[in-house]
Amino acid sequence: MKNSLKVEPIENGTVIDHIKQGKALNVYNALDIKKDKTITIAMNVPSGKNHKKDILKIEGIELSKYDVDKISLISPNATINIIKNKIVINKFKVEIPNTIEGILKCTNPNCITNIENVAGKFDVEGREPLKIRCFYCEKFLNSIEVYK
Ligand code: ZN
Repeated sequence: MKNSLKVEPIENGTVIDHIKQGKALNVYNALDIKKDKTITIAMNVPSGKNHKKDILKIEGIELSKYDVDKISLISPNATINIIKNKIVINKFKVEIPNTIEGILKCTNPNCITNIENVAGKFDVEGREPLKIRCFYCEKFLNSIEVYK
């Protein structure tokens, strides 16, 4: 048992690997997965030296770009594995997009998006640390909360 994955493989679906330790449930909650889907959540899985990660496996779904963008904001180093007939047919790292539409809410209470029913729109101006500026009020978000 060196680097073996301690979770059974799935037949068809998506494995979100390398989720930041403790964030699997945040990812799950952000994705709005139908209740009948088979889900496996693994938390605090050893990953390399002195490192732990979470893993989320979802049978029978493929993620949209919107979902992948959400995951990138929760766990920027996560990887997405698309499984077909038990074979990984596509594997990629999530990437924080340059612009974000929806997903987040502006944290400025006076922003038009919080006064009128306007969907949020944001520019990503820094990744480490994450700096996200509202397109409408031009203020930086002071916390990042991902919505369904
Ligand atoms: Zn704003």
